[in-house]
Amino acid sequence: MAELKLTFPDGAVKNFAAGTTVADVAKSISTSLGKKAIAGKLDGQLVDLTAPLAKDGQIEIVTAKDEAGLQVLWNTASLALGAALHDLFPAMTFGEHALTEHGFYYDTDNEAKPVSVDDLVAINDHLAKIVADGDAIDREVVSKADALAKFAADPYKTSLLNDLAADEVVLYHLGSFTDFGEQGVLPNTKLLKVSKLLSVAGAYWQGKSSNKMLQRVYGTAFFSQKEMTADDARRQEAHDRDHRVIGNQLDLFFVDPKVGAGLPYWMPKGATIRRTIERYIIDKEVANGYQHVYTPVLMNLNAYKTSGHWEHYREDMFPPMDMGEGEQLELRPMNCPSHIQIYNHHIRSYRELPLRIAELGMMHRYEKSGALSGLQRVREMTLNDGHTFVTLDQIEDEFKAILKLMISVYADFDISDYSFRLSYRDPNNTAKYFDDNEMWNRAQTMLKAAMDDMGLDYTEAEGEAAFYGPKLDVQTKTALGNEETLSTIQLDFMLPERFDLKYVGSDGEEHRPVMIHRGLVSTMERFTAYLTEMYKGAFPTWLAPIQAVIIPVKNDLHLAYAKQIKSRMVARGLRVEIDDRNEKMGYKIREAQTQKIPYTLVLGDEEMTHASVSVRHYGEDKGIAQDANIYIDAMVAEVGNYSRT
Ligand code: ATP
Ligand code: ZN
Repeated sequence: MAELKLTFPDGAVKNFAAGTTVADVAKSISTSLGKKAIAGKLDGQLVDLTAPLAKDGQIEIVTAKDEAGLQVLWNTASLALGAALHDLFPAMTFGEHALTEHGFYYDTDNEAKPVSVDDLVAINDHLAKIVADGDAIDREVVSKADALAKFAADPYKTSLLNDLAADEVVLYHLGSFTDFGEQGVLPNTKLLKVSKLLSVAGAYWQGKSSNKMLQRVYGTAFFSQKEMTADDARRQEAHDRDHRVIGNQLDLFFVDPKVGAGLPYWMPKGATIRRTIERYIIDKEVANGYQHVYTPVLMNLNAYKTSGHWEHYREDMFPPMDMGEGEQLELRPMNCPSHIQIYNHHIRSYRELPLRIAELGMMHRYEKSGALSGLQRVREMTLNDGHTFVTLDQIEDEFKAILKLMISVYADFDISDYSFRLSYRDPNNTAKYFDDNEMWNRAQTMLKAAMDDMGLDYTEAEGEAAFYGPKLDVQTKTALGNEETLSTIQLDFMLPERFDLKYVGSDGEEHRPVMIHRGLVSTMERFTAYLTEMYKGAFPTWLAPIQAVIIPVKNDLHLAYAKQIKSRMVARGLRVEIDDRNEKMGYKIREAQTQKIPYTLVLGDEEMTHASVSVRHYGEDKGIAQDANIYIDAMVAEVGNYSRT
């Protein structure tokens, strides 16, 4: 019989009879490993415990302690979920099932009655029964053709099978339910004791909004209750930080798909935060040599044909508006062509370079509906955009200057949890990009050298570049754990070519400038989402929509003093409100805390007599008496320059 040569993690090589399973291999090492093994990895690929091993390779035994252990548990749990759904809804068909960072999901289509959160209790109960029974999961290896024949009546399965590259498919049978999927599935449901379903959300088949909306059922599972409890806490924290939840609690913004998915409405408080950021960033940029402009959101489509956006970026653009007589207007997805018009409006001299044009530029992108998320990914957004036009010799210094400015902006917002990513073009798919090898190599090398020179750590990502050039992205994490780009600095040798940009050099000749695109704090939308999550809604005083709330102990006795203090504060540019509702003081103080207002001032007899205020800082449970003048001066100093009402 043929032999299998398996290499173990410690480098040992052992021979086994062909057809040996992972379970056999584990047992041959020790009885205890035989008991603990839940799957194996052959050359890094998960294989089932009972699958006969068919080729030589690097073998690893997977136990509950390994990182892949959870993957095995979740694969199995998702299959058990499929079986539970199948029992409860016999007519249901199934889209894809997959793992997420924190669990698994199954997409379902139940024509007569789509599953909803109301069904979760019943599904959970039935799942628990399948687990308690420890039902066996049988595996069966079939050819892809046989699998296609078996699922011929199921369009989802047929499509999923057709997408598979392998000729063989592993079917898993649990009760009367059968599905196929990645290997790494347990032989029974016994280990799924600590599992639960979490939520149901709509998801388009294959993520395309032109396809049918399916119901995605999310769940998770762990080997121990302790891990589940920790995950519950993580989920609660993510929920409490989620800018959509806080946005609702603090009445900052809303998005209503009925009036437009991805088109946010900024309520007064959210608008105040945004206005404060806008004032801050404009002042900061002007102080750093930027000239701020205003340009239209609509532009003749021809500009986007010249820029290449129409060719490379069309699927993210709104369809053009046909104005008749051959004129087509486009809602801009980027501000670059607009700033190019500003550059080109005059003959430029080398003396003007670097020329820094900036704008809080509104743009529209037709993001996929499944990708939209609160303010974090929207279809109408205002970017803190800027384009600097430089000579070849100035690129590196300008890049460094932008980066320094960005780091200083981050410090002003106390943002410290971010990382740099250099985004290059995909060397295997150069057709997607502006075609100039020399420019790509030069630009990519230059970025790397500048980062090294500044001593900054970074990762490198092929395939993440813009179509016109490589970039430096600043990566942050959302409350839900997704990585998103906040700031970006992009080199561009292409648009200056396409728009025939020139400057007159010291030699009196015409030369081509280079463009650097940069977004310091990203879009107002994404940045506000990010800050909301980072501060958990407790904005620092300078950004807080209401900076102080004044509570008169008794309206009839202390309201006049409250009004006097308020008007003195407002005159100093502070955002202050009086809570004179007929509610108990304790209630009002609690509400000020729920609204995460930085300062609560309680004013009664004592304060009136001493011209003082009793100040309670957000998060503290006691007020401190302070002279009113001293307090107001301190607060004005704290909020700095950007907090004018
Ligand atoms: P992403 O990869 O996030 O889609 P991008 O690379 O297409 O972004 P750029 O064209 O560089 O983005 O846009 C500049 C910045 O605008 C991004 O770094 C990001 O912070 C922000 N941004 C991009 N798309 C959106 C959106 N749909 N909603 C909110 N902000 C966005
Ligand atoms: Zn640009």
